[in-house]
Amino acid sequence: MARITAFIIAGLWATALASQPQAEKPKLEKSQFDGQRAMHHIAEQLVQGSREPANIKAKQHTLNYIQQVLSPLSHSIRSQTFNAYGLHGTNLWASIKGQSKSRDKRRIMLGAHWDSRPQADRDADPLLRNHPVIGANDGGSGVAVLLEMARVLAAQPPSITVDLVFFDLEDMGDIDNRPYSIGASQFIVRNPDYRPSAGIIVDMVCDKNLRIPRERHSQTRAPEVMDRLWQIARQQRASGFIDRTGSFINDDHVPFLDAGLKVVDLIQYPFPDYWHSTGDSIDKCSAQSLQQVGNVLSEFIATY
Ligand SMILES: [Zn+2]
Repeated sequence: MARITAFIIAGLWATALASQPQAEKPKLEKSQFDGQRAMHHIAEQLVQGSREPANIKAKQHTLNYIQQVLSPLSHSIRSQTFNAYGLHGTNLWASIKGQSKSRDKRRIMLGAHWDSRPQADRDADPLLRNHPVIGANDGGSGVAVLLEMARVLAAQPPSITVDLVFFDLEDMGDIDNRPYSIGASQFIVRNPDYRPSAGIIVDMVCDKNLRIPRERHSQTRAPEVMDRLWQIARQQRASGFIDRTGSFINDDHVPFLDAGLKVVDLIQYPFPDYWHSTGDSIDKCSAQSLQQVGNVLSEFIATY
């Protein structure tokens, strides 16, 4: 009797849940990308504040965190330090080896910048413009996607090798005449033999109203990678992928394109109104948006 009652109550409970659309969440397989886990990776990066050059504590915390997540999941992690434009930086490069026994030398690079901007120069309040950007979306979201992808790839190893590269000092552009993408440019200089067959930079992908058009440098110079991504997005009904060509955006893919590598950029545009302001906080992010991006990337890798 007790069991029957429990069964009936469970049934009523299930009916009540089903009548609430927000409760209808598709159940994820363990080896599937999980947007909630990615949200957790964003929160963890923000624990010590912005990852700007002056905030050594926050930078060390995030570096440690990335390495701690990746060390049980990847076959190698390389830390490459550099000095450029009067700054000290660190790029991290983790690899998850492909299972293919053939002589398939192809590899895919996923990249994200792990620093955040030291000046909120787009803040509506002039008094806050010398405050740092916390960078939940601008920086944090891309790193989070890569960290969750590492778990997915380790659970179900891909046939070809995937490199996860975390670039420092992307967001110093136009501050004291520095360029954007210092870390990505340094990575190319220091690894001249690294020639991935395709690459995808992930930046600003957690907004609740996700809108990623086809970034114009990527569409012009690596259309085959972009076409495949948008084909998958269409199949998956990933509504955050907007099928039109957007603007030219300066991001970590540009130095790779200049080096002749097919590396594209997934980035929200127009930028959210809190871009480069003190409002770039985790309450603007959504697990569903991260989920969409993760699903598209998972399929891209699995079918490459
Ligand atoms: Zn930025």
